[in-house]
Amino acid sequence: MEKSLFKPFLTIVILMGLAIIAVAFTTDVKFDFVPGVKMELPEDVKGWHGNQLKFCHNPELCAKDYKDASFYVSELEIPDICPECGDHLFNMARAEKEQLPEDTEFVKSAFTNDVGTRLFTSIVLSGTARDSIHRPQRCLKGQGNNMDGEYDLEVPLEGRDPLTVRVIQTSRTYRTADGPVPYYSFYAYWFVGQDRETASHYSRMFWLAWDRVVRSKANRWAYIAVQGQREAEGTEYEAEIIDFVQQVYPHVLTDTMRAKAYGE
Ligand SMILES: [Zn+2]
Repeated sequence: MEKSLFKPFLTIVILMGLAIIAVAFTTDVKFDFVPGVKMELPEDVKGWHGNQLKFCHNPELCAKDYKDASFYVSELEIPDICPECGDHLFNMARAEKEQLPEDTEFVKSAFTNDVGTRLFTSIVLSGTARDSIHRPQRCLKGQGNNMDGEYDLEVPLEGRDPLTVRVIQTSRTYRTADGPVPYYSFYAYWFVGQDRETASHYSRMFWLAWDRVVRSKANRWAYIAVQGQREAEGTEYEAEIIDFVQQVYPHVLTDTMRAKAYGE
């Protein structure tokens, strides 16, 4: 194609693209607030014991300078009350509460297995007003982590195709009295819509727009993440992710999403 012809052609393509995006976010869509996940994590699954976490947001005491003040629900004497300052406890950290829309829902738990491995898991459910799930890479960087690598990991599941999760290898250095201490961790996640799941942020954005335009439907997406420590080298942690997701996955889906995921 000649250059003089190509330029208007390109302009039309860009305009069409912008029009699709505009249509996606201005047309009247029917909101369907039933999510694909249940907002609860199991307490015990095979090999893992879960402990739900709650957070104190007291800006003068517990959560001063956005310090992470978390408590195990099972150890609280009075449910939802901070044992240190008496404030009301929340399902998310103070920074999360302040940065995300009011109706974003959270549930967080720490799971330990028989050999003492501890994994932190969370489900974040986007609100109804606007989509509140960000690209995880951006948040991890913002929290001061180095991104050492990322890739897709297949988790074999009984009765259906494997679930793809995205794994990010992170690291950071903690300054201690004994000098700097390196800390290596991983962050595995995937997204669940009302009847879709994907490990890709861009696929999720595509389905968000697609559902609005083609199905005239908007629903709440959930973001499920599993975090843990890893060695500086090697990928032994993958076995932990696989085992954990295999056990927890069937518990977090709604009946409708489960039927779809297992092709029932
Ligand atoms: Zn407190």
